[in-house]
Amino acid sequence: MPELPEVETIVRDLASSVPGRTIRDVEVLHANLIEGESAAEFAQALRGRRIGGVTRRAKNIVFDLGRGDRLLVNLGMTGRLLVPRRGDPLPTHLGVRMTLGRGRELIYADTRRFGRLWRTDDAGWSAFDGRLGVEPLSDDFTAERLFEMTRRSRVAVKTWLMDQARVVGVGNIYASEALFRAGVDPRRPANELALGDVERIRRATREVLTEAIEFRGTTFLDYRDASGNRGEFYDRLRVYDREGQPCPACNRPLRRIVQANRSTFFCQECQR
Ligand SMILES: [Zn+2]
Repeated sequence: MPELPEVETIVRDLASSVPGRTIRDVEVLHANLIEGESAAEFAQALRGRRIGGVTRRAKNIVFDLGRGDRLLVNLGMTGRLLVPRRGDPLPTHLGVRMTLGRGRELIYADTRRFGRLWRTDDAGWSAFDGRLGVEPLSDDFTAERLFEMTRRSRVAVKTWLMDQARVVGVGNIYASEALFRAGVDPRRPANELALGDVERIRRATREVLTEAIEFRGTTFLDYRDASGNRGEFYDRLRVYDREGQPCPACNRPLRRIVQANRSTFFCQECQR
């Protein structure tokens, strides 16, 4: 499932090719990908609209359409959003096809179709934005704020970190990686962390997300960037998907446990 670095990589790619282009036509091949209105209404409302900027909020891709209107895309498990170069083969499992000005296309493809696309006006956007937690790469992500937030929860810190109403964009891969780098046991209740633990988690989370963006994300199954390439961060993972392999710091075998139905990978020696 794409997490913050994968979505950020796609957004940066799209931000260099899509802004300033007008949506000439929209073809919806799978109506159930469209939320909040019919496929025909969605297509009609987008035709003729000019895309201003492309940004990210949590794991959502946000196209600014002007006048406070936005097109939002959530990739779900296997969604892909790309602008093929002329002559590139189109991906399989096409979901939505937008013809842009100057001969380009913006394609949404999705094998399992858990993704969604929807439009919002300014009020809808504010409500949506308000339900989401703090962006871990923003200036708002301070140790003091994080520490304050952890005081109210007995949830295990790994599960806590993945709650999108608290901190956005950190999913299963990067939560395991960040806690390893921070040296914090993923099973510790959030409200028992000391300020020093929280500061290390904050620093490690930013570090692992920033590095993953530099390597254009982590490809597990279907993730591809907007040019159709795989992310290269997989080889740099230190604990995720490495059960039984030696810890990169102490050489003892890494462990896998299940928390909130998700696998957690960690080192029992290095993480306290
Ligand atoms: Zn270790």
